[in-house]
Amino acid sequence: MRTMTCNQLGSACDKEFRADTFEEMAEMSKKHGMEMFQKGDEAHLKAMNEMQELMKTPEAMKEWFENKRKEFDALPEN
Ligand SMILES: [Zn+2]
Repeated sequence: MRTMTCNQLGSACDKEFRADTFEEMAEMSKKHGMEMFQKGDEAHLKAMNEMQELMKTPEAMKEWFENKRKEFDALPEN
């Protein structure tokens, strides 16, 4: 298992996610983002808007994803 925070995943708080794979991690972060979005949390709304901007450019999105995956892979297992 590796741990990353909401902040490290490009969003807006220090909530920690623990997962075995980066895909799982990304999924948890997405669910959390949606929850915060529904609560109307402004910091997460802003982060989500920025992410949606990024998604308009598939290459940029892919690069972001690959960079985060590398970050994830470089973390110590815990
Ligand atoms: Zn968060």
